[in-house]
Amino acid sequence: MTSTHTDALAVMRNAVASAAAVCSAVQSRLDSLRAITKDDKSPVTIADFASQAIIARALRAALGDDLLLVAEETSAFLRDPAHAAHLDAALTVLREVPEANWPRATAEDFLSAIDAGAADPLSPRAIGGGFFTLDPIDGTKGFLRGGQYAIALAFVKDGHPQLAVMGCPNLASDRTASAELPAPPGCVFAACRGAGFVTQSPLTIANAAPRDGHSLTPAIRAAFAGVRSHRVLAESVESAHSDQSASAIIMREVDPAYTLLRLDSQCKYAVVARGQADLYLRLPSKKGYIERIWDHAAGALIAQEAGCTVTDALGAPLDFSRGRGLESNKGIAVAPAGGGLHASVIAAIRRHVS
Ligand code: AMP
Ligand code: MG
Repeated sequence: MTSTHTDALAVMRNAVASAAAVCSAVQSRLDSLRAITKDDKSPVTIADFASQAIIARALRAALGDDLLLVAEETSAFLRDPAHAAHLDAALTVLREVPEANWPRATAEDFLSAIDAGAADPLSPRAIGGGFFTLDPIDGTKGFLRGGQYAIALAFVKDGHPQLAVMGCPNLASDRTASAELPAPPGCVFAACRGAGFVTQSPLTIANAAPRDGHSLTPAIRAAFAGVRSHRVLAESVESAHSDQSASAIIMREVDPAYTLLRLDSQCKYAVVARGQADLYLRLPSKKGYIERIWDHAAGALIAQEAGCTVTDALGAPLDFSRGRGLESNKGIAVAPAGGGLHASVIAAIRRHVS
């Protein structure tokens, strides 16, 4: 890992930690925000936009106009006068949460920061020099349930995530604790392609420096996972996002004694990376659905650097060079690189699909 990588990861971690503080504040005010905007989904909307704006602003401060960011949201919704209550609520949160570092946020600065995430991943500059991709809140259903969600930021170049920072504000730092129960302030994972380890540290601004973390290596992951007598499968809570009946059929072939860890968001990659689960399967449940790059770039690199094989559900490598979607892939399969588990799962999926 070069010093440029370390510097970039530090900027990314601080940005994600600031955004996480705002998301946590919104999550703790769900009821009052629902009331202000008279809309059940508005809290996630407000936090999504605020998270994206904070991270875009922080990256822009570090990189200037060279920043290329491909993020999930655009400002169109907030620019619509019909949604003025959402815009006001988001600005209030940004100004009030100290970790956002934005006490004088204006509507125009906020909206233009959101729009800094509108880069085209297929532009010549993005293809030549790489780009950041961001899911400001991954796992919106988990966020609304008070459960797991993630703030997922990656730098992608040459078709691969090269740097990743993923904040999981409700995921217990202790991997022996339940991953399902919310445990604020949660933790943040950081990875650099080729480094062969992942850092995990508490998700607080004060602890956001990489030196405060501890390393997860393939050996540390394997030693922890190896103590179990059965396999643990991480999969989506939402059956609309992954075919849970198909994964049950496949897992019964792989290990009839398997247990399930259902979590929202890319936290699933993190629990496999630290050995708390053995597999993450995402099996297509809707014909023609194309996975979005920001739903996988950060998590995939974190799992890979902790010693996992990350492919699509048929065993093909993930190709992040095709634009905003993983156009040449279907589903996701993540398992430790050694020991044959990944190969047996892919073989079971192929038998089941054909
Ligand atoms: P998860 O929390 O892992 O269930 O995934 C949440 C993500 O699923 C969201 O960010 C959506 O982009 C994505 N998503 C939405 N519809 C689908 C679908 N039909 N299949 C797979 N993923 C989906
Ligand atoms: Mg998402």
